[in-house]
Amino acid sequence: MAVTSHVPIKSRDGVSTLADRWPLLGQRRPLVVYLCAIVALDVAAIIVFATSTVFEWRDLLMFGALMGCGAVCIEATRRLGMPAGVSRDLLSAWWLPVALLLPPVYALFAPIVLQVLLQVRVRATVLYRRVFSSAAIGLAGCTASVVFHQFVSDPWILSQGGGLPIMMAVASAVLFSLLNIALIAIAAHTANPDSTWREVLWDRESLLLDIVELCLGVTVSVGCGLNLALLLLALPPVVLLQRSLLHAQLQAAARTDAKTGLLNAAAWQREADTEIVRARRTGDTLALLIIDIDHFKRVNDAHGHLVGDQVLVGVASTLRSQLRDYDVVGRFGGEEFVVLLPGADIDEARRVAERLRVRIGHMAVPVDATLIRVTISIGVALMSVHGDDLIDLLAAADLALYRAKELGRNRVCIPVVQPPPPALPNDPAA
Ligand code: GH3
Ligand code: MG
Ligand code: MG
Repeated sequence: MAVTSHVPIKSRDGVSTLADRWPLLGQRRPLVVYLCAIVALDVAAIIVFATSTVFEWRDLLMFGALMGCGAVCIEATRRLGMPAGVSRDLLSAWWLPVALLLPPVYALFAPIVLQVLLQVRVRATVLYRRVFSSAAIGLAGCTASVVFHQFVSDPWILSQGGGLPIMMAVASAVLFSLLNIALIAIAAHTANPDSTWREVLWDRESLLLDIVELCLGVTVSVGCGLNLALLLLALPPVVLLQRSLLHAQLQAAARTDAKTGLLNAAAWQREADTEIVRARRTGDTLALLIIDIDHFKRVNDAHGHLVGDQVLVGVASTLRSQLRDYDVVGRFGGEEFVVLLPGADIDEARRVAERLRVRIGHMAVPVDATLIRVTISIGVALMSVHGDDLIDLLAAADLALYRAKELGRNRVCIPVVQPPPPALPNDPAA
């Protein structure tokens, strides 16, 4: 299940602003409205279902056992840590049986229990994100539970192996995943309207994970309907899967810039080096761009660092959306980005750089009643013309960027290649 976590937000210049203390208030207004609406819906659903549910010992025992398994999973992976940004886990293996086997109110409670544990035991992240994750998972689980119970009046017959109840369990699990993905994708898209729906919905990797979660959830549901003690057999493989999943995510996070989701400087340099070696071997052309946001300090000074961060995220996502999958894009540091364009000659590099400059110039980040616009300056360098290795290319592109700034910013520059010195009359090379 996708959950969100966040890097801690530092106060600006040591002064704690309201938005620093209440990070939710620093978010875009439509996002705040959406998050509050989902949480309010969740609270309303808890009240409605809790007052109409008869709590039975058998249900409470199963709920406790499944939450216990979730807690063991969290404890067993706790020391690995949790990657920043959106992370995935396999806790659905425990809250899907809650949704299928128990009355719907338990599906609303389950994510609260596990998110509190994650917050206390794994990573104390921005609170509103945890609350929203609980509400989104709870509402998705509760809806799946209501649908399943509509069609299968006694959920315990799931364990008799009949085709129809199992098919209904799978369909309800699919509904659970789709709803949860949709609720989180709407939040991600509202937070960053420049991102495409495809980006915020799912990629191949997360689709695979959704299928794994669904299989685990339905299998555990059938098993614990047979005998609660079978949970002891399900627990070790789920813990192992959860650990390897977290390990893979931590490895990916080590390559990624947490703020923008682009490659970080070290990972970008590694990938760029590989591309340069390949281009040298094959004789292909290759270009490098250094991109710097103009007068970015003024954005921070006028609107605060949180808004500055939103602009960085917007620029990063516009860059990503304007480039090909195999172009290597990274955040070099601060408000500087680097792009490697394999196969690009000088004309194409200029064309791409111009397109990026124009697109970013048209980008507007809405903050309160105003729209924030920024421009960028770009330095371009071409392999074999301005340098033969990464260091030379970076130095050449940096000089070009410096010139772009000097000439007034919001422009693309290429390095001035010095003509070779005129040959002397008795120079043997003449
Ligand atoms: P120029 O057009 O010459 O590039 O001017 P500039 O203001 O963009 O450049 P300068 O180097 O003076 O300032 C860069 C600013 O970027 C200063 C720094 O506070 C800000 N900055 C660096 N990293 C981050 C970040 O992660 N978030 C935010 N909000 N600001 C950042
Ligand atoms: Mg700079
Ligand atoms: Mg700048």
